[in-house]
Amino acid sequence: MSTIVTLTYEVFVNDPPPQNNGLLPNGEPKGGSPVASTLIYGSEDAVLTDPAFTMDQAHALGDWLAGKRRNLTDIFITHGHGDHWFAAGLLAERFGARVVATAGTIAQMHANIAARPFLWDKVYPGIPPSPVTAVTVPGNRFTLEGHDLVIVEVGHSDTDDTSVLHIPDLGLVVAGDVIYNGAHMYLGESVVVGGFEPWREAIDRVEALKPRRIVCGHQNKQLDDDAERTIAETRHYLDDADEILRTEITAVDFFNAMIERYPNHLARTVLWAGASALYGVRDHPGEDVGQILAAAWL
Ligand SMILES: [Zn+2]
Repeated sequence: MSTIVTLTYEVFVNDPPPQNNGLLPNGEPKGGSPVASTLIYGSEDAVLTDPAFTMDQAHALGDWLAGKRRNLTDIFITHGHGDHWFAAGLLAERFGARVVATAGTIAQMHANIAARPFLWDKVYPGIPPSPVTAVTVPGNRFTLEGHDLVIVEVGHSDTDDTSVLHIPDLGLVVAGDVIYNGAHMYLGESVVVGGFEPWREAIDRVEALKPRRIVCGHQNKQLDDDAERTIAETRHYLDDADEILRTEITAVDFFNAMIERYPNHLARTVLWAGASALYGVRDHPGEDVGQILAAAWL
């Protein structure tokens, strides 16, 4: 006879790391976006998602995690963007955990490592060594004390090959960057796929899982994790961006118009990086898109 223990989840939101590379068009210093890590746990074991990217963040998250007194079995990474996982190696080592991701995400992790010297390390000091140690799991499924954790591949959202973690027994989806919550969305990589349609399809795939709660990779920690609200707001943000892209001529105008509609959203630097990329590609057809995307952050 065995008893299946109910799972619980808690969220740790790491503040963005310090950044020292200039100002936004409105004169504010550049900054990053808060990164949310989810700890799902039973009576003994636990699984962690998206453990952020600097050494300071790894220490803060690790100390919080240590206080939960669970055996960390796995660290799941939703997608390849370095801010979600460059610290995974430190956490994996500290807690003796396995790192899990899809094959698509693992390929994107390698691409993000390749971009460290001219992108990540230029903007953010204090990123630890970040070898890719992630492995896939059979059928995109693993378990925590008898409960299924299901990896759902949703394609392109704010980057290629993104996935979410569905925990049916909690009515929970850990959505990475497919759904956002009170923070500006990174729109830049839509230039690679011709717009926001793939992202909208990814949102539909999350909605089809019928979650009650969604933890977003970037969220304002003052807000709740209501699935219906966060899905609706994420769709609305893309619709607003589409509309403003049609009416505004320059990246600065786009930036200002979005801030006017979303005055309380965090991470205006992410908005600016997206705007710079969208208008950079629009204004310089034929130029290297990868270079435009990277330059938009610098
Ligand atoms: Zn992100």
